[in-house]
Amino acid sequence: MRILTQAQVTSLLPMRECIPLMEAALASLSRGQVVLPLRPVLRIPDRHDVFAMMPAYSAALPAFGVKLITVFPSNHGTDLDSHQGAVLLFDSQHGQLVAMLDASSITAIRTAAVSAVATRLLAREDACTLALLGSGVQARTHLEAIALVRPITTVRVWSRTRDHAAAFAAWAERAHGIAVEVADSAPRAVRRADVICTVTSSREPVLRGEWLEPGVHVNAVGASQPGARELDSAAVATARVFADRRESLLHESEDFLAPMREGLVSERSVVAELGEILTGKATGRTAPAEITLFKSLGLAVEDLAAACHVYERAEREGVGTEVALGGRRPPSE
Ligand code: NDP
Repeated sequence: MRILTQAQVTSLLPMRECIPLMEAALASLSRGQVVLPLRPVLRIPDRHDVFAMMPAYSAALPAFGVKLITVFPSNHGTDLDSHQGAVLLFDSQHGQLVAMLDASSITAIRTAAVSAVATRLLAREDACTLALLGSGVQARTHLEAIALVRPITTVRVWSRTRDHAAAFAAWAERAHGIAVEVADSAPRAVRRADVICTVTSSREPVLRGEWLEPGVHVNAVGASQPGARELDSAAVATARVFADRRESLLHESEDFLAPMREGLVSERSVVAELGEILTGKATGRTAPAEITLFKSLGLAVEDLAAACHVYERAEREGVGTEVALGGRRPPSE
């Protein structure tokens, strides 16, 4: 079995390589090549911390596997990522465990890559102003990812803690040479934005429908846990809604389920899954003034596709640590 650390995964999974991998994974889901049970989520009692188990099989990939991940928003403010865990890969021929990869890095990169796919399919071609609500790990990877698919010239960030937004802006300048304006409030950040990414651990809405202007595209990325919301009901009801997967949206997204209970949206309000657009079964944006919303829940097949790619590169390039875990029959004397 090969073990791949956070630094190794990060270097073997550049954003530019991950975006087409996510397109292929979402397209294979749409073609019916993927087995993807809803993820069991174990909630740590009396806290918002969770442990999620995310298995996936894809006929289009050489291995199947599972991401075991804890989401501890309470890690915020420490030097630990709020997402901790591993992706385990099993080869499809013998079912042998062949790799264990750091999941913090895979999660950070693949999630933003999927938002880039959504942005490419749904945002206006000339979208040049990006607003980020939130300034954590996902804000960083989203900045990089969205700038790869649209000609972004202006970036604004708002965060609950102003110092964190300022630290994010300093990092963006240092790491990418991108100037980021720190906004005093969420409505100021999103005013006249072409693309908005909500990347917070908030459990209450941070984005309101009344702030959305014609032509904007929203990637709603936080609130992937039961009970958490980033969007008010009007934001969802105003937009044409797209999903990574309908089944996940209808079971796991309080952002969608809350306005559904209020009678503002129904199952039919979900225009398409991203994979349906990628495979030509559905259309994305149809007019410049439309408001489009991609609700991201995060799918195990995205982790699987990313992990398979990293593993293949690691084998080829001799990266990682080999461990003989076992899995052999006992000798027969
Ligand atoms: P981080 O812990 O790195 O950052 C959390 C961010 O949320 C910070 O910017 C923080 O703001 C903000 N925040 C926390 N509480 C609130 C609040 N009550 N109101 C407003 N903002 C708040 O998390 P990540 O960047 O790793 O993840 C962001 C979100 O995305 C999480 O909810 C995570 O679970 C989700 N996620 C979704 C995935 C998907 O596939 N859809 C995959 C991975 C993550 P500040 O620092 O200013 O306090």
